[in-house]
Amino acid sequence: MKRTIAVLIGLIVLMSFCAGAMVATEGSAISGDVAQQKLMDGNKRYVDARLSHPNQTPQRRTEVAKEQHPFAAIVSCADSRVPPEILFDQGLGDLFVIRLAGNILDYATLASLEYAVEHLGVKYIMVLGHERCGAVEAAIKGGETPGHIGSLVKAIQPAVDNAKKQPGDLLDNAVRANVTMVVQKLKSSSPILGELVKKGALTVVGARYDLDDGVVAILP
Ligand SMILES: [Zn+2]
Repeated sequence: MKRTIAVLIGLIVLMSFCAGAMVATEGSAISGDVAQQKLMDGNKRYVDARLSHPNQTPQRRTEVAKEQHPFAAIVSCADSRVPPEILFDQGLGDLFVIRLAGNILDYATLASLEYAVEHLGVKYIMVLGHERCGAVEAAIKGGETPGHIGSLVKAIQPAVDNAKKQPGDLLDNAVRANVTMVVQKLKSSSPILGELVKKGALTVVGARYDLDDGVVAILP
């Protein structure tokens, strides 16, 4: 009898563990490779005008009301033409998104990403720049800027300086250089993100969104 009870308890423990693991696979347990594939698949649907609008039902709202397990974090520009949920065809609770003009990295952005990785289990971060970015263009123009816009320009300036050494279109090269600069800063940031990247537990990639055809391309 005692043995039967012990087996039963063992079964219950095992079942509850499996249930927990099943919940965790939705989001937090999703690897960097799978996360990138999900984003690219969604972008393909968006480009092909075959949107499936996943996870946008009242049922999904209820599902994620108490907790979230986004499968990716995106740092993108505040530009009204670059909303990650739309161009990756994702829904509620899927993406942890931080948007600032010029997809720049400040301490609040870094802290938000650390929260996403440490507390929400995100294993994939994408820095998403875009074609004809106005913030990057302002940094190229330089000169006097009104209000606080100078802080954006200052953050992007090193990327512009870098792009000026390259042949080809200055604005597009600066957009790419700006993304690469932010990716490198994240990969070497201490003490949280950089350590996880080194351990292979976190993937950080840069990408460029094409305003004309809607394609997101991962940068080398
Ligand atoms: Zn922009």
